Amino acid sequence: MSVAEARVSGELPSPLLPGAAPQSGPLRDRRGRVARKLRLSLTDRCHFSCVFCMPERGKVQWIPREEILDFDEIVRIVRLLALDGVEKVRLTGGEPLLRPGVADLLRRLKGLPGLREIDMTTNGERLPELARELREAGLDGITVSLHSLQRERFAQLAGLDVLPRVLEGIESALRVGFPVKINAVAIRGYNEEEIPALVEYARERSLPLRFIEFMPLDGRGNWDQGSVLTGAEILATLRSSHPLTPLARESGDTARRYRLEGSDAEVGLITPVSEPFCDDCDRIRLTADGKLLTCLFDTHLHDVRGPLRAGASDEELRALLRRSYEEKPPGIQYIRDLQHGFQKPRPMHAIGG
Ligand code: SAM
Ligand code: SF4
Repeated sequence: MSVAEARVSGELPSPLLPGAAPQSGPLRDRRGRVARKLRLSLTDRCHFSCVFCMPERGKVQWIPREEILDFDEIVRIVRLLALDGVEKVRLTGGEPLLRPGVADLLRRLKGLPGLREIDMTTNGERLPELARELREAGLDGITVSLHSLQRERFAQLAGLDVLPRVLEGIESALRVGFPVKINAVAIRGYNEEEIPALVEYARERSLPLRFIEFMPLDGRGNWDQGSVLTGAEILATLRSSHPLTPLARESGDTARRYRLEGSDAEVGLITPVSEPFCDDCDRIRLTADGKLLTCLFDTHLHDVRGPLRAGASDEELRALLRRSYEEKPPGIQYIRDLQHGFQKPRPMHAIGG
């Protein structure tokens, strides 16, 4: 779409129209929520095929390469978002470590005014080779997804028999000095008996561990309410083996956190399905092909790439980002029937979790 077409279609306000000048200050939606954190997807591609994320192998529709934002485009959008209040960026995907030159991108993002922190969520498999370079490029922290400690189950969940590589990746990240967190999606019928082993793994290494409820964003249409292992169930399992001390929740936190008594480790429960936390959400997502998603449960992807490639000015792009964010929907808790009343725009790997 050209800039002129975007203006006619209402995607982009004309700077010539009265009142079209961008307001200043942070991005704020109609409910007063302010955007502070950006999940930045570097690619929709992934060499894993997690059952809760990807369509079956052979059925995945990858985004065409020419539609993927290049580094100049990414840096420009992030710079504009940082000017308007975004402080933290999390690199994700797909698998962010499959994006060639990720350390170069990091070095460029690190210099942007307003950004305080850049972290990454990864499946960890490429970390043995890349951890040191990422640290030297200025990455602040790494979250590794680890849903099972049993080799066969890991392979069943992730579609690839690489548990030893992922564990080696975590050790590599720790060796070069990264703060490391562990994410585990908890799914009934897959990994509920592994909760104690994952807690023990995190406790031994004093790592923060997050259990995430299975969200209806998988690529296979397998999600149903019955497969969601709820935060309350996970907490009951945790309490049966460990005394826990609740920790304070800060505004915008996705997790309810608990300290494992007698240790430095903490366990968090991310409960978007059973106990959502949409009212103080401060996150936005930029997909690898340049769409702004203001909520994981929005069905509207706001196209930023089109106007950007059509020559929009910084002020025009800022106005577009601001207007898009204003339309952020209330969130998952306002969807009455998740099974039938929510049409996901894309599976998780193409959004950026
Ligand atoms: N490939 C990287 C990884 O697996 O960590 C980053 C991308 S992945 C989409 C980001 C996070 O989303 C991971 O922690 C993953 O476990 C989580 N995730 C994927 N699909 C999910 C789903 N349907 N429900 C809840 N979490 C999900
Ligand atoms: Fe790949 Fe991450 Fe999705 Fe698994 S969760 S398929 S590792 S993008």
